[in-house]
Amino acid sequence: MQNLTILGSTGSIGVSTLDVVRRHPERYRVLALCAHRQIDRLFEQCLEFRPRFAVVGSDELAAQLRTRLAAADCATEVESGPAALSRVSRLPEVDAVMAAIVGAAGLEPTLAAVRAGKKVLLANKEALVMAGAVFIREVRESGAVLLPIDSEHNAIFQSLPRGYSGDMAASGVSKLLLTASGGPFRRTPVADLAAVTPDQACAHPNWSMGRKISVDSATMMNKGLEMIEARWLFNVPADKIQVVIHPQSVIHSLVQYVDGSVVGELGNPDMRTPIAHALAYPERIEAGVAPLDLFAIARLDFEQPDFARFPCLALAYRALQAGGSAPATLNAANEVAVDAFLNGRIGFTAIADVIARVLDAVPVVDVTTLETVLEADRVARAAAHELLASAAVA
Ligand code: NAD
Ligand code: MG
Repeated sequence: MQNLTILGSTGSIGVSTLDVVRRHPERYRVLALCAHRQIDRLFEQCLEFRPRFAVVGSDELAAQLRTRLAAADCATEVESGPAALSRVSRLPEVDAVMAAIVGAAGLEPTLAAVRAGKKVLLANKEALVMAGAVFIREVRESGAVLLPIDSEHNAIFQSLPRGYSGDMAASGVSKLLLTASGGPFRRTPVADLAAVTPDQACAHPNWSMGRKISVDSATMMNKGLEMIEARWLFNVPADKIQVVIHPQSVIHSLVQYVDGSVVGELGNPDMRTPIAHALAYPERIEAGVAPLDLFAIARLDFEQPDFARFPCLALAYRALQAGGSAPATLNAANEVAVDAFLNGRIGFTAIADVIARVLDAVPVVDVTTLETVLEADRVARAAAHELLASAAVA
C-alpha cells in the first residue's frame, strides 16, 4: 500500500490521478489532497478519498472547508498556505508525491518532496525549468526517485534503457525526438493570430488540460519548456533534442539510437497512461484508457516546427543556451504574460513580445540555490509587470 500526497488535486492532472487511484484501492491510499481555490471540488474529493490532510490557499477557505467537512462527518484536517503544502509533501508516512500544481507555485513543495527522498511524480514542468540544476542536484543527494508525468518525457523514459543514468553516449542514444501536436493554431494564418481569444487558444485539438498549459501549447512555449525539462531529466544538450510536429499526438516521443533504431511510446492522448505508468513503476496497472486503434488512426504525419509562427519556441532555445537564471526568467515572464492574455489585458502575439523584452532586460546570473532561483523568478516577474503597466505591449 502506497501513501500519496497529491499537490494540485483539483486540476486536470489531479483529477486524472484520482481517477487512476480510484481503480486501485488495494494499492494506493490518499494521505493529503491540496488545492488552491476550488474548494467545492476539494470537498467532494475529501468525502470520497478520506485523506488525513487537505491543504487550501487561504485561511478563509480553510475555515469554510473545515465547517463543511465537519457537517459531513469527515475527519480530514484542513491546513492552508505554502508551508502546509511543503509539510504534507515530506511527511514520513508519504511514499509518493504527485507534483501537479501549475507554475512556479509548485516549486517549493515539489522540492520538499525531493529533499525528503520521496518518489516524485513530476507534472509541474515549470519547477524543473526554473530550478533545473538545483532540482537535479537535490534529487541526486536525497536519492529521491523522479518519474516524469509529462507525456513526452514519460514516453522518452519508457523508451530509454532501464536504469539510464544520464550518459547518452554510454547508452548509445543519439537524439531525443520530442513530438508536439502544434496546438490549435498550426494552420491559422499568422496575420490572424494577434486577434485570437483565450477560449480559442484553450481549445486544444487532442488534449484537455488546464488553461495555462493550453495557452502554452497554442504558443508552443509548452514545447520550449519541455525541451528544457528534457535537458534536465535526461542530461541531454539542446542540440540533441529535436522537436517534431506530429498532429495526431499518438506517438508521445521517441529515442533515436546510434544503430539506427528509433524507440517510442504510442497510445491514445490520455494523461491517465503516464500517470498510471509512474504510479505503478516498474509494474503496470490498468488506467481506464481505451486501447489504441491503429486502423481508426490510419495515418501518422510529421512536420518541421515553424519558428516564425511560434517565436516562443525560439525564445526557449535561447534561454536554454544562455543557461543560469535565463530559464527561470523565461518561465516567470511567460507566466505573467499568459495570465495577462487570459485576463484580456494583452493579445496572443504579445505573449512572445513580453518574454523577449524581459529576456533582453534581465541579466543572466548564476543560480545555484533555491533562494537564487526564487530571486531570479521575482526579478523577472517584476520586469514583466512593469512592461505590462507601461503599455509598451498590446
Ligand atoms: P490546472 O490548472 O488544471 O490545475 C492546477 C492545479 O494547481 C489546481 O489543483 C490548482 O488548485 C493548483 N494550484 C494553482 N495555483 C496554486 C497555488 N498558488 N498554490 C497551490 N496550488 C495551486 O493545471 P493542469 O493542466 O492540471 O497542469 C498542472 C501541471 O501539470 C502544470 O505544470 C502543467 O504544465 C503540467 N502538465 C499538465 C498536463 C495536462 O494534460 N493537463 C500535461 C502535462 C503536464
Ligand atoms: Mg507534454
